[in-house]
Amino acid sequence: MSCFEGKYRDELIANAAYIATPGKGILAADESTGTIGKRLASINVENIETNRRQLREFLFTAPNAVQYLCGAILFEETLYQKSAAGKPFVDILNEGGVLPGIKVDKGTVDLAGTKGETTTQGLDGLAQRCQQYYNAGARFAKWRAVLKIGTTEPSPLAIQENANGLARYAIICQENGLVPIVEPEILVDGPHDIKTCAAITERVLAACYKALNDHHVLLEGTLLKPNMVTPGSDAPKVTPEVIAEYTVRALQRTVPPAVPGIMFLSGGQSEEEATLNLNAMNKLQTKKPWTLSFSFGRALQASTLKTWAGKTENIPVAQAAFLSRCKANSEATLGKYAGDSSKGNGVSESLHVKDYKY
Ligand code: 13P
Repeated sequence: MSCFEGKYRDELIANAAYIATPGKGILAADESTGTIGKRLASINVENIETNRRQLREFLFTAPNAVQYLCGAILFEETLYQKSAAGKPFVDILNEGGVLPGIKVDKGTVDLAGTKGETTTQGLDGLAQRCQQYYNAGARFAKWRAVLKIGTTEPSPLAIQENANGLARYAIICQENGLVPIVEPEILVDGPHDIKTCAAITERVLAACYKALNDHHVLLEGTLLKPNMVTPGSDAPKVTPEVIAEYTVRALQRTVPPAVPGIMFLSGGQSEEEATLNLNAMNKLQTKKPWTLSFSFGRALQASTLKTWAGKTENIPVAQAAFLSRCKANSEATLGKYAGDSSKGNGVSESLHVKDYKY
């Protein structure tokens, strides 16, 4: 068998193609309970279930916003949650044309003998969990592998181990009806230049696609969620046009055209930076056989969270802030974003956190 031919084959291809619809992208709202706790703490909101639910509910029901979304990645708790009025979030999302997705990894652990490099856990029992998530309405999944750039990093061990983990995860998802988002995130941390990031991104993606092929993964039923190719967080910045050129070239060299969509993570960029970079890629006149879109967490939610500040009376303006980022990123997937001249709500503030855990 060259690649996956199981019972979900056609459904996987259709769902991956739907998620790759130009003009739409993914809301990454799958922060684990610990991570969302840090976000809520930043606006002095207590990390309790009702507050987590209220936040997710106003995102999923923000007037006019879901037309710009094709998917939302959820943490397990959210997949089973209901609105205050008792309607399952899965139904709310489906009615808005937003496919529910689920984070299935269980975080990272250190790889022995490396300088703090990691591998991602969660393969044990994954098939059973995927079946349960499918039955609960999830149609795609996310698994975040993390690599870093240092003098000797990423090591061949970290590249191999993470590529293999992503491939095992991907085929288990496909066997159980979930489109796998393959996410090898190379952290932005460090003083390296953009050329170094490009070379390492190419090496990591090449290893991932070798592993995905070795594991007989059906590429038409997958999506890629990579980092953009940028200079390190401690290096001078470059323009969106330069980022676009290096990023698209790295992808051209490594990602097969069978993959329908590449949905970037924002990785600590400000909301406005992430949107401008995505827009520049979509404006670039070159070979792009995949949809280039977004699967942003921080870069879709930061100004919204700040505006909300945990107060019910702020929800309508917080929803308006969310709508404005969804619309901006939708335009960026078409190369038609003109920029946010207001610079309101801190949309240009860096969201970088060293050694970020999701
Ligand atoms: P950021 O866009 O905040 O980097 O997160 C996206 C994500 O889902 C990382 O796994």
